[in-house]
Amino acid sequence: MSEDVQTEEPQVEKRAFQTEVQQLLHLLVHSLYTQKEIFLRELISNASDALDKIHHRSLTDRHILDPNAELDIEIEVSSSNKTLTIRDRGIGMTRDEVENNIGTIARSGSAEFAKQLAEAGDEQEKLKLIGQFGVGFYSVFMVADRVVLTTRSADPDAEAVLWESTGDGTYTLAHADEAARGTAIKIYIRSDCEEFLDAHRLEAIIRKHSDFVSYPIKVAGKQVNDTAALWTRPRNEITAEQYREFYTHLTGDPDEPLAHEHVIVDVPIQFYAVLYIPKHAPTPWLSHSEPKISLNLHVKRVFIQDDCKDLLPLWLRFVRGVVDCDDLPLNVSRETLQQNPIIAKIRATLVRRIIGMIEGMAKRDQEQYLTCWRTYGAVLKEGVAMDVEHQGALAKLLRFHSSLADDADAYVSLQTYIDRMQSEQEKIYYLAGESKESIAQSPLLETFRKRSLEVLYLDEPVDEWVVHGLQKFADKEFQAIDAADLDLGADAAEVQLAGVDQEQKAATIELISFLKKQLDGRVADVIESKRLTDSPCVLVSPQGGLSQNMERLMKLADREFKGHLRLLEINPKHEIIRNMAAVLKRDRDSTQLEHWAHFLVDFVLLGEGTVENPQRLSQSLQSIMGAATARAAEEG
Ligand code: ADP
Repeated sequence: MSEDVQTEEPQVEKRAFQTEVQQLLHLLVHSLYTQKEIFLRELISNASDALDKIHHRSLTDRHILDPNAELDIEIEVSSSNKTLTIRDRGIGMTRDEVENNIGTIARSGSAEFAKQLAEAGDEQEKLKLIGQFGVGFYSVFMVADRVVLTTRSADPDAEAVLWESTGDGTYTLAHADEAARGTAIKIYIRSDCEEFLDAHRLEAIIRKHSDFVSYPIKVAGKQVNDTAALWTRPRNEITAEQYREFYTHLTGDPDEPLAHEHVIVDVPIQFYAVLYIPKHAPTPWLSHSEPKISLNLHVKRVFIQDDCKDLLPLWLRFVRGVVDCDDLPLNVSRETLQQNPIIAKIRATLVRRIIGMIEGMAKRDQEQYLTCWRTYGAVLKEGVAMDVEHQGALAKLLRFHSSLADDADAYVSLQTYIDRMQSEQEKIYYLAGESKESIAQSPLLETFRKRSLEVLYLDEPVDEWVVHGLQKFADKEFQAIDAADLDLGADAAEVQLAGVDQEQKAATIELISFLKKQLDGRVADVIESKRLTDSPCVLVSPQGGLSQNMERLMKLADREFKGHLRLLEINPKHEIIRNMAAVLKRDRDSTQLEHWAHFLVDFVLLGEGTVENPQRLSQSLQSIMGAATARAAEEG
């Protein structure tokens, strides 16, 4: 190494942090007060990750610096200098890596993160965001005046690097004289944070937050943690608090998960798993265009990868946790993991156990289960629609809004539906639509309400695929109530009424033939309704056609998609229909009748929230109002 002064100086480079990092640092230093101790968890977690990486690499690659270094984390306190140093013999960083990892938030959405952090309400919320976005390292500035990071990469040719910052806007990078592999972070503790120079305090924090780190953590030479991986320990020796802390350690989410499941299997293959259902799902993570499976895979305690997509079906992508298998070779690669029969067996067990965990929640605690359902229901429904093997079990977990619910937010399970359906009822009735509000106002529900027949509201796009996939539940078929051929059988009262007025009957037939002509191209047919009581008309789907909602979804996906025309059913007993029939009888050429004819269709579409031609509707309304106001003016 040259001692030349000329080359020594320019090696110290001063750099500005990425803007987002500056904002983040400001917020960390100025807005998080009570939870400062988490900086230690974050740094230990980084050290542990660095040890995982070198451990894994050393299994196949001996061409690394210090191949025999002990894999541990050492913490030293200097009371006189008021410094705390955290050192690991992990994979270390090259100069470029330091710059990319520590000077920037190397993730898309970092600006978004800073924005959310600024808007976050309380500390808990902020901590959660910090966990989610993984800005762990910077949390050190909650307790530090100055941080000096020395690191040397495991690449034998890389030089050691010294990074230093006071957490204002800038940092410096320089060459360091360090022979050994790994990273040391020297923290100059702020005067108001001197509690973190107390070894007992540090030990307590480590036991609380980092007990399950699988490498020895030593404070002043003494090991503090229990390195036996949590998942290998017997279930009855692990406290609820430890399961919770382990979850936070894995995910960065400080919120308690909804449920956990500890799997220990010996035969036919030996593996362990700890699985969690988080309380909140980050939205981009669920609806992401390339969704991931976020389980950490270990082989014989060695971390292998954190996104093994073969471990779970995509409809369980909200589950977090670890899996550790003793029967896989340590040098498995991503490629060989695919189609590995052992992974397939693990997956089958995990799916069964997770469904069991969710069923347990549904039995134990309704409220908690509904939290789970509101968050992950749409994802679970993908499973019902696509995974025939688990369809039966998943169908029992489905929840829907319904016409018989006491309040609009209540849910019903298919089993409850079956349990309370009427003795002579043959089918499970449903109506699909854009929202539960638009479904609830549909005239199609009238006769069902009158007869106290329950109708499920299918208000999510995937719902119709779900009932089509299931076809039946408990031997009862699903039946859309907007099907033209739906026959409920007439009520006695309705039959009586039907025969009463021959004159009115003739007028209705006239009106129907008039409407057919007027509405040609808008509806497939016009017929007399057997199901309406309070509404003038309704649109129903032709026999064998897609439901209206399905067509709506098809149109969203494909602008060119031309759906089937629906049938207009009119209610001859309704005032509007009777009046129209009377006007028609008197004056076949009434221009108002033409408007009214179209308005019958628009009226239904308006309720569904899908008016196809707002201009025409607006004109219809104008003409109707014109006539009404003229009449009112004459009367006055
Ligand atoms: P995260 O750990 O969520 O990625 P951090 O801000 O804590 O976010 O760390 C950023 C990156 O810096 C890490 O992903 C890692 O690549 C690198 N890093 C941090 N600490 C260490 C360390 N002790 N050894 C090696 N690399 C580290």
